[in-house]
Amino acid sequence: MKQFDVIIVGGGPIGIACGLEAKNKGLSYVILEKGPIVNSLFHYPVNMQFFSSSEKLEIDDIPFISNEAKPKRNEALEYYRRIVTSNQLDIQLFEKVENVEKKDGGFTVISNKDSYSTSNVIVATGFYDLPNTMDVPGEDLPKIAHYYDDPHFYASQKLAVVGASNSAIDAALECWRKGAEVTLIIRGPEVGQRVKYWVRPDIMNRIEEGSIKAYYNSTVKEIRETDIRIDTPDGAVTLENDFVLALTGYKPNFAFLKKLGIELSDDEKKLPQYNPETMETNVDGLYLAGVICGGMETHKWFIENSRVHAKIIMNAILHENPETVEA
Ligand SMILES: Cc1cc2nc3c(=O)[nH]c(=O)nc-3n(C[C@H](O)[C@H](O)[C@H](O)COP(=O)(O)OP(=O)(O)OC[C@H]3O[C@@H](n4cnc5c(N)ncnc54)[C@H](O)[C@@H]3O)c2cc1C
Repeated sequence: MKQFDVIIVGGGPIGIACGLEAKNKGLSYVILEKGPIVNSLFHYPVNMQFFSSSEKLEIDDIPFISNEAKPKRNEALEYYRRIVTSNQLDIQLFEKVENVEKKDGGFTVISNKDSYSTSNVIVATGFYDLPNTMDVPGEDLPKIAHYYDDPHFYASQKLAVVGASNSAIDAALECWRKGAEVTLIIRGPEVGQRVKYWVRPDIMNRIEEGSIKAYYNSTVKEIRETDIRIDTPDGAVTLENDFVLALTGYKPNFAFLKKLGIELSDDEKKLPQYNPETMETNVDGLYLAGVICGGMETHKWFIENSRVHAKIIMNAILHENPETVEA
């Protein structure tokens, strides 16, 4: 069995940052990624623009040059891909980690392709694999998607967008601009306060002028082939409908964390237990990095503020001074 100092589960921006830092520190490592390089970013909407400016997404001070201040998805794919290839990072793609077993003085990492022996494991699996479902009749119909890709698909169609966060608002605006008839269904009383400050006025104006219809304090009750039924403060409403984009957020794979022995807080946040000074979990030698650290608080960590985890963890593994870590 191959033996490593550290195995990184997940090849997102933060898993890659961990791999690069391990390499810089002279540790033997491999990144195991179940999809392509930065799989989550690969599945973001094709025209997506980051809210962070490019330098805030940089790893290890390697310059990220983008056309505008805030890079687009394609530029981010290029950047992280080049980090992997230029630094010849050891990453095994399309290899899914199924389990991590603790054994004397280390771990056995079992994937769908191989088994590895390692002294330390970093879990950097993000939260983008599991959408929050609405749990309503008809949710399994093919007209419903939890991931938004390209507005062209929805042109000239009656589209219901469920949600009020950045993803939902971006999709609603973009699809409306490409000719979809868009209705927003929002559980709370307003468009989310975290919606990008330059996008919020746009959506508010579109709603006010009636270009995009919005139902507030409303929830989807049933989805059928040609319509959807929603509960609104004024009673039940049935809307003619071709497609539903349920952009209601995502959640980490808690079952995977529990299988690895990581304890979660006993409340709705389900915060995984770890020491913020080392990122080590309640399991010795098992670390967390990236957005997975936030449990259900998926907005708490992002690339900007979690890229530092890579240095914190390598310092902890090597027992180096944590004061040298900079964000
Ligand atoms: C639409 C959108 C816009 C965003 N904009 C910004 C922004 O502007 N600025 C910012 O800082 N952040 C932004 N974020 C958040 C940011 O993209 C995430 O914080 C970032 O992807 C986190 O990186 P990560 O490496 O922790 O997780 P991820 O990028 O999700 O990577 C986790 C990886 O683990 C892999 N994986 C999962 N399970 C396994 C397994 N069992 N075995 C092997 N591999 C596995 C996945 O395939 C994935 O590639 C945005 C997020 C979204 C959804």
